[in-house]
Amino acid sequence: MQDCIFCKIIAGEIPSTQVYQDDFVVAFMDIKPVHLGHVLVVPRVHVETTLEMDATTLMRVTAAMQHVARGVVAATAADGWNLGANSGAAAGQVVFHAHWHIIPRFAGDGLKSWQDEEVTTEQLIEMGGKIRTELTGIL
Ligand code: AMP
Ligand code: ZN
Repeated sequence: MQDCIFCKIIAGEIPSTQVYQDDFVVAFMDIKPVHLGHVLVVPRVHVETTLEMDATTLMRVTAAMQHVARGVVAATAADGWNLGANSGAAAGQVVFHAHWHIIPRFAGDGLKSWQDEEVTTEQLIEMGGKIRTELTGIL
């Protein structure tokens, strides 16, 4: 897609430090990493978020994510790692070509992924019911 920075990276029009690629996926170093070793796993097909991925692409991105995460953990000697995807501007998405972040984590690194919201048990039950209802209409 024109004017998509990740499509340009995938096409080789913009340089990147790639760590993995196959027919469905390219993975490269994030230029502004949370920690050194932060990698982005990106489908070759231009879709905005995970929700728009076809089933095969989703499976292949998932498999590539696990493979790349093993490499990140081994190369950085990480104590743990986060898998993240910012989907939509409200969630902090800046590049609107779907991508998953693999972020190595280290004991005591102080990074907090997100904060909790205070909710009641009733709210949990009500929202769980709404989500179940929505899912019955989605195959
Ligand atoms: P987000 O859309 O919020 O998930 O974030 C997009 C991510 O892409 C950020 O972490 C950026 O640092 C990263 N990024 C943007 N441009 C490039 C680039 N040319 N090469 C590598 N990473 C990039
Ligand atoms: Zn794109």
